[in-house]
Amino acid sequence: MNIKDIKQYFNGKNDDELFSKALKVRDKVFQRHVFLRGIIEFSNVCKQNCLYCGIRRDNLNIKRYRLSPAEIIHIAVQAYYQNKGINTIVLQSGEDAYYDPDTIAFMIENIKKKVPVAITLSLGEHDKKIYKLWKDAGADRYLLKIETFDENNYKKLRPDCSIQKRLELIYYLKELKYEVGSGIIIGLLDEDIDYLAESLIKLRDLSLDMIGCGPFIPHPDTPLWNDKMGSLNISLRYIALLRIMNPAANIPATSALATIHPDGRYLGLMAGANVIMPSITPKRKRLFYDIYPGKNIKCDCVLDEIDNIVADIKKAGLTVELKGVGESKKNNYYINS
Ligand code: SAH
Repeated sequence: MNIKDIKQYFNGKNDDELFSKALKVRDKVFQRHVFLRGIIEFSNVCKQNCLYCGIRRDNLNIKRYRLSPAEIIHIAVQAYYQNKGINTIVLQSGEDAYYDPDTIAFMIENIKKKVPVAITLSLGEHDKKIYKLWKDAGADRYLLKIETFDENNYKKLRPDCSIQKRLELIYYLKELKYEVGSGIIIGLLDEDIDYLAESLIKLRDLSLDMIGCGPFIPHPDTPLWNDKMGSLNISLRYIALLRIMNPAANIPATSALATIHPDGRYLGLMAGANVIMPSITPKRKRLFYDIYPGKNIKCDCVLDEIDNIVADIKKAGLTVELKGVGESKKNNYYINS
């Protein structure tokens, strides 16, 4: 698809065609299976100061928490043994130096020793040798969102960080043979349809295993408190285009989508998503993982609400994949088709 084709899909006149194309592609590649990922948000302490994010360093209004390594391992093992299809554990946190690299490696090794899950890390930016250490410890996947491809916006939104460094790390993670995920936040600052269309091409060119993109949700305790929320319809079209342009990638119906609309998760599946990531962070802590308002509150994207999640999956004509860890189909798909 070229940039002109992509742009015209955003005007909404061809929604039926767009969504049915996306579903056709997804169902061919993933055979109507949805993968669940249990996400443990183990610390909301962060040294970064991203303008959009509620757990940014300068937000003094949130209660900070940390889970102990023993608790994290326990939660991961328990989630697997519920037999609900949580065969991937995502370890996510702010950039919190309290957990040294060896401690993270210890957790990865221990979880993998106890249960046959895949482990995805979503721990932000670290030295290359640390990514290597974690890969050697058994981590399978790494999620490092680019957040925005607009260089000026990147500078504004992620102080002291650089887009070049982020991209370099993404390439390095691929070199290390992680399955790599990235994505953007939809609807930041002045970003328009031209930008969104270009970002789809850039994401495609990164040839990713997973692509997670959700609408921007302004957080009252951040500098962007007064900005507009990302649009539901634009986000759904974005997901459909992602699917068509990246047939074999794992694409979640993000919790941000489920937060801005009561049917967000279902609509995400109907736009071509094939992954849902319920929080398995203990209830008493997850409310403080407040990257945007409503996260883990309004949306019932948590494991104790698994029945609602399964109901949405059924309603979309899909089933939860109970076996296997749900790799991306990037490698086999292109060989087989
Ligand atoms: N600290 C790690 C993990 C962050 S994951 C890292 O930097 O990689 C949390 C994700 O939530 C971010 O990557 C971002 O895409 C999303 N996010 C943060 N603030 C948001 C907001 N206000 N609205 C929507 N999504 C947001």
